[in-house]
Amino acid sequence: RAKSDGKGIFKVYSPEMGNKMRRYHYLLEELRLAVACKDFYLSFQPIVHVEDCMIEYFEALTRWDHPIEGMIAPSEFIPIAEESNLILELGDWIMYESCRQMAAWHNAGMRKVKISVNVSGVQLKHRSIFEWVMKNLKNTGLPSHSLMLEITESTFIKASKGMIEELERLREHGVTIAIDDFGTGFSSLSTLADLPIDVIKIDRSFISQADKSQKYNDILNIISELGQKLGLKIVAEGVEEIEQFELVKRMGVSSVQGYLVSRPESSANVGNKVLRKNTGNLFAAGTSAWEI
Ligand code: C2E
Ligand code: MG
Ligand code: MG
Ligand code: MG
Repeated sequence: RAKSDGKGIFKVYSPEMGNKMRRYHYLLEELRLAVACKDFYLSFQPIVHVEDCMIEYFEALTRWDHPIEGMIAPSEFIPIAEESNLILELGDWIMYESCRQMAAWHNAGMRKVKISVNVSGVQLKHRSIFEWVMKNLKNTGLPSHSLMLEITESTFIKASKGMIEELERLREHGVTIAIDDFGTGFSSLSTLADLPIDVIKIDRSFISQADKSQKYNDILNIISELGQKLGLKIVAEGVEEIEQFELVKRMGVSSVQGYLVSRPESSANVGNKVLRKNTGNLFAAGTSAWEI
């Protein structure tokens, strides 16, 4: 039982903590099983160009539909997978499956679109990222210029010299590198110039605050300007409203991702919506994303 002295000085244990720990250990064991059975699937969310709204990338987002619990959010299971190193085996599946799917879409005619895959810091630490990515490209037949890796700002801050060098080598081979959730990791802006990156993905929190607060609006402007000066492409995450779309477009952001354009979709829906209509344009005249 939880013990509280009522003065709230030391609270070593509470029932809520117990519940959290039980849930954690339960999910950890379930995750072990799911990883062994490859019981996951990928959802794909388009990233479109602000000018013509053509799809440039699909971000692969991992989904876990648990037989009893139902959908479990990546924000809950990815950290557990990272802390247990299960992300290594899961991440192998994610990378292979993402590249395999994109190669299949390429062969079906969707040639210009790239696949964007989230890579965790744990994977960078335990895998030779260069060899690992090249092996997946070779095994799936996906060209290197059709792959983007998303690495969070907080991972970049902790990255070793060796990791940075491997990412640089991947870039030399045509792989695109994006810094994900930018603005949340407190890296100094000056380090941006030295990182082996091509794309900045500005975190959703800035987009959702920007039309409400001048402060966030200013920060967005500065990131956008700096990115452009450094020759980087800028993606705005989490664009939900047409006003946000117009705002980031005015700021010089090159591409947008968010519910306004499309929610993440199953591979079957992507195939149907994009390949059947034989076009990559998702977002005509500011109307609903997939209707054209
Ligand atoms: P992320 O990489 O920043 O991915 C974008 C997240 O924002 C996705 O959430 C996406 O569904 C959500 N999103 C996109 N547009 C909007 C919008 O307009 N409004 C709102 N409210 N949300 C939007 P999701 O799929 O739940 O993933 C959450 C995070 O979990 C990801 O953030 C990423 O950090 C992690 N994650 C997901 N899949 C993977 C994976 O395969 N590997 C790794 N290492 N991490 C993953
Ligand atoms: Mg991402
Ligand atoms: Mg992101
Ligand atoms: Mg994010």
